[in-house]
Amino acid sequence: MTLQQVTVLGATGSVGVSTLDVLARHPERYAVFALTADRKWQILATQCLQHNPRYAVLNDAASAQALAAELRRQGCNTEVLQGADALAQVASHADTHVVMAAIVGAAGLLPTLAAVKAGKKVLLANKEALVMAGGLFTRAVAEHGATLLPIDSEHNAIFQCLPNQRANYLVDGLQSSGVRKILLTASGGPFRNTPLADLKTVTPEQACAHPNWSMGQKISVDSATMLNKGLELIEACWLFNARPEQVQVVIHPQSVIHSMVEYVDGSVLAQLGNPDMRTPIAHALAWPERIASGVASLDIIATARLDFSAPDYERFPCLRFAQQAAARAATAPTILNAANEVAVAAFLQRKIRFDQIAQIIAEVLDKQDVVEPDSLALVIASDQTARRLAHSVIAAF
Ligand code: NAD
Ligand code: MG
Repeated sequence: MTLQQVTVLGATGSVGVSTLDVLARHPERYAVFALTADRKWQILATQCLQHNPRYAVLNDAASAQALAAELRRQGCNTEVLQGADALAQVASHADTHVVMAAIVGAAGLLPTLAAVKAGKKVLLANKEALVMAGGLFTRAVAEHGATLLPIDSEHNAIFQCLPNQRANYLVDGLQSSGVRKILLTASGGPFRNTPLADLKTVTPEQACAHPNWSMGQKISVDSATMLNKGLELIEACWLFNARPEQVQVVIHPQSVIHSMVEYVDGSVLAQLGNPDMRTPIAHALAWPERIASGVASLDIIATARLDFSAPDYERFPCLRFAQQAAARAATAPTILNAANEVAVAAFLQRKIRFDQIAQIIAEVLDKQDVVEPDSLALVIASDQTARRLAHSVIAAF
């Protein structure tokens, strides 16, 4: 088997580090082609020394200089590049076969799209890219013959439970494959049982302390508001050609079932496993084969019970906003995502309260017109307008 050259966008993050862990277990299958990050050059330097990629890219110029000096000092041959164009360049390079898209937020859209347009095998963790530009993104996948595989644990689970003949549901819809609905599971995050009045005073540290998963700060806050599940609903619609009403959100606090698919004959298929991203990463890397991921065997007897309940929209208004944006379609999801990114950053900087995240999203969605996103320029303009509106809502608090 030829060695697969892998580019990891967002290598220093939670998904990036898990990806490198899986890759290092299979040196006979995978080599690291390029590693990228925003500015954490010390971590990237350590990763370059261990994985010896051809390229390392940093978004930030000063950090790129520091990395280049450090790698020279250590005698490492990795070439250091800098800036957004360089991210797209390594993602679409003729010598890379697989691209892990694990940048957080809208910053991941252009490099991920570059990989898609170069027809790569794209492993998608960066759900925001699909939420903000789903139509353009999925059309580009089809047009350029890219292979898009879901890394988000729920979507990876759904993918595993759907029939292998993807072309059928991607062209004719889920019903034609005998699917009745998708059950998208959610842990409910750290505030599932917190008294509602206390949500006004919770801190970033409390919001980031997820009960089952260890993740980056932004997605941890999204899990606490459950906007993450809303983004995932939109993500599922694009990945599986589903309508929003075909996706039911179910609270399942143990995070052992990662999602389910119900068929018209009443069968419900689920994918189970320990909550560790190395399982979906290894699945997508090797698909349609299977490789070891380093994840411990699931102790089903210790798990003992699996609980399920319906989401509480009073507690999680962001989930409702996302469902409404999904139904409204066009640029509504773009606006939702951009307003949320600004709100979450402000919450992490302690500029706003936790409950104000929902307020900002609602106000921006209310103020901004939705248009048909028929070009990338239009999507980016909608994203920028929503960010400006979100900042003005915050300034008025
Ligand atoms: P993280 O914050 O831990 O890492 C983000 C990575 O993106 C870092 O390497 C950072 O350097 C890079 N980055 C940030 N801004 C950038 C910019 N402007 N330009 C270039 N690079 C930039 O995030 P994470 O938890 O690893 O999540 C990454 C993505 O995967 C997110 O979209 C998230 O929703 C998704 N995801 C994560 C998990 C998880 O378990 N962590 C699970 C499912 C989906
Ligand atoms: Mg998820």
